[in-house]
Amino acid sequence: MKGECVCGKVSYKVAEDISKLYQCHCSICQKQTGSSSQTGFFCSAESFSWLSGQELISNFQKESGYSVSFCSNCGSTTPNVFRTKDKYWVPAGAFSNLANAKIENHIFVANKACWDEIGGEAAQHEGFFPVYS
Ligand SMILES: [Zn+2]
Ligand SMILES: [Zn+2]
Repeated sequence: MKGECVCGKVSYKVAEDISKLYQCHCSICQKQTGSSSQTGFFCSAESFSWLSGQELISNFQKESGYSVSFCSNCGSTTPNVFRTKDKYWVPAGAFSNLANAKIENHIFVANKACWDEIGGEAAQHEGFFPVYS
């Protein structure tokens, strides 16, 4: 399946079936997305490949280690390689066909926006939870 940014210049492919998503409600994800949370998943490095636009990707890193990559043309969040290099973090919203995927975990729920109402059956974790195993 193929994911892409808003302008379409950065595109990539994930060659594995994705079933588990997670949603992070921390204050950084709120600011970064301008919304309640960031929804993403991890896939193995072997199943991830760039299709186009890799040269347009910019990266921002905080001293804490938080890092975000984005298309320098349209600002959309793009995937980035995990620190262990064996997997990629991928933004779920870049795909139009994640039919088998479901949110399994909500993390940093203690930091959610006061107007953020979390629904559904997924587990809710007050803080960090290892969603990349
Ligand atoms: Zn773009
Ligand atoms: Zn977050």
